[in-house]
Amino acid sequence: MSRDILVVEDEPDIRRLVVFHLEREGFSCRTAGGGAAALREIRARAPDLVVLDLMLPELDGLEVCRQLRADPRTAAIPIVMLTAKTDEVDRIVGLELGADDYVAKPFSPKELVARVRAVLRRSARVEAEPRLAAGGVVLEPARHQVTLDGQPVTLTPKEFQLLRALLEASGRVLSREQLLERAWGYARADEIESRTVDVHVRRLRSKLGHKGDRIVTVKSAGYRFDTE
Ligand code: CA
Repeated sequence: MSRDILVVEDEPDIRRLVVFHLEREGFSCRTAGGGAAALREIRARAPDLVVLDLMLPELDGLEVCRQLRADPRTAAIPIVMLTAKTDEVDRIVGLELGADDYVAKPFSPKELVARVRAVLRRSARVEAEPRLAAGGVVLEPARHQVTLDGQPVTLTPKEFQLLRALLEASGRVLSREQLLERAWGYARADEIESRTVDVHVRRLRSKLGHKGDRIVTVKSAGYRFDTE
């Protein structure tokens, strides 16, 4: 079955160009000319991936991204952003908003198709990952969902990755460097980055309520998720 891609772009020429190249590669496309229409399309039927332009009238791409990630039903849908504002890329991808990748405008259609394929491959791997559970905290990679005694809790993409790393290592201490490597993808950590871990752990703890106490600070070693 061909993968269903929603192309969200207000400029008809670019929209047609993107659709043309994706369909030529065997994808099936739906389109939306604005952010509100995109959200309606996605909520009516979740696509396999969204190609999302950043600059849209009324509801822009960042807001669409934010709303999709905040809703457990749509949080796991892969998003590839189109943007002419390359200085915004850090905010767009991963960090705050959790788009899976971006393509800078003006873009080559070939590159866009390659990114779409790569993101779909990555998300297929995530779907195959098992759920992690400890002490009433359940993390489901495929649905990008975390529940506390069955109640969903909304985490940012970084908090999600952090919790995943801690749960995978349940009962064992992870150093700040290991957490940076596993949740941020950094190879090395400096002092500032280590403090970043502390800040995110603090936020994660507070979102987990009393279960946050399971994330234990181990002096001069790092953090551990206690299962007991
Ligand atoms: Ca636009």
